[in-house]
Amino acid sequence: MTKAVKLQLYYKDDETLSFKQAQEELWKMQREIRAAANRIVQLCWEYNGFESDWKKARGEYPTKDENREILGKSLSTVIYHKIKQDAPSVITSNLGSTEQAVVARFNALKADIMRGTTSIPSYRRNMAIDLHKRSIKLTFDTDENGKTDWYFELALFSKSEKKALDLPKSSLKFKAVVRSKSKRFVEPILERCYDGIYDICGSKLQYENGKWFLLLCFSFENEKESLVQLEKDSIMGVHIAEHNAVTCVFGNGNKVREIEGGEVQEFSAQVEKRRRSIGIASRKHSKLCGDGRIGHGYHAKMKPLDNIGQKISNFRNTVNHRYSRQIIDWAVQNGCGTIQLEDLTGYATSELEKYKMLKSWSYYDLQTKIEYKAKEYGINVIKVGYRDLQKWCAACQLPSVKAVKDDDGNTSLVCETCGAAYGANDNVAKALCVKDIAKILSKKADPDDEIEN
Ligand SMILES: [Zn+2]
Repeated sequence: MTKAVKLQLYYKDDETLSFKQAQEELWKMQREIRAAANRIVQLCWEYNGFESDWKKARGEYPTKDENREILGKSLSTVIYHKIKQDAPSVITSNLGSTEQAVVARFNALKADIMRGTTSIPSYRRNMAIDLHKRSIKLTFDTDENGKTDWYFELALFSKSEKKALDLPKSSLKFKAVVRSKSKRFVEPILERCYDGIYDICGSKLQYENGKWFLLLCFSFENEKESLVQLEKDSIMGVHIAEHNAVTCVFGNGNKVREIEGGEVQEFSAQVEKRRRSIGIASRKHSKLCGDGRIGHGYHAKMKPLDNIGQKISNFRNTVNHRYSRQIIDWAVQNGCGTIQLEDLTGYATSELEKYKMLKSWSYYDLQTKIEYKAKEYGINVIKVGYRDLQKWCAACQLPSVKAVKDDDGNTSLVCETCGAAYGANDNVAKALCVKDIAKILSKKADPDDEIEN
């Protein structure tokens, strides 16, 4: 199935071309593509006339082979060579897409044109620029508050135009404008395109009322569910431990897959180290500070720091994409139609920082990513509160574990029913494998039995 979404774009590539120059280049490209499109129609029409004459003389239209013999090459190659002269600044792949679209439209109308019931199509000045699917690259940036901005890197310029403009690349970067009212609808689409759940298809760049819009086309198969047979009763538990480590448990806790975690911490430690070294250098006004930044005051010197928080958030988001994909892959590989996910809601932010994910939003972000990816496979995701989970005794299958203080003042977890003792988090992963654990725990949980963390 193919669908499309319309996104306004902001130009975000001043270092490659000034806004004014980029604007002029895009307008020029529109003019060139319009000329090319009209040329294609003209060539198709001419060849159509030739074919009709051929039929009159011989009683049949020329075959594919005869066409090739007459032209020396295929009709589309002949057309392409001609339109290349009309649109010298347009990248090959995009121009090829325009040719395909225009030829297809002409062929669809051909019978009506011959009958005289419709006119030959003509293309107007404000024609959309066709984008081949390979000309579209989707990226994102996430800031410290978890707000994500989406960017499109669109390949546009032919080799000769790139050279003439002395550009480092043939593409320009744009930021997608996601309005708050359409956010809930648009963001999941962009996420899925980024994750490869949706495939980006050939799209269009359109100019309207002084703004540029991307008509982003994407496709997806509805077959994913039928490809794998997932059992609703087959459960995978997902436990989130320290430093983003993830433990997936299957088959009543006998099978375990783990993501080690710690990546985000390592990354931020690295970045922090750099931040400090720049900070120290700046305070001392030392020679370490680049020439360009000397004498431009505090803000100029601190400029390298601006992007650091952004870099960490970005890395976190990328890690969450990877983790959620891995978690869903494991569920699918093991035929699990249900995921029971540890829900950290209610965990104090300071605790989340220290023991679990680095920031609470990053945990919710992972949870959200797991949920929407699960949906693609029809996997059911059930969230189970972490506090209730800690009460579960895997030995007697009852929620009767309590925190007990021994004589030395150390806290340990002991089952009141069977006396089994647990280390922190030991029973949680096992509990997540129990069918309907959320219901069992919510039914039997007694508000007075809260375990102190
Ligand atoms: Zn027990």
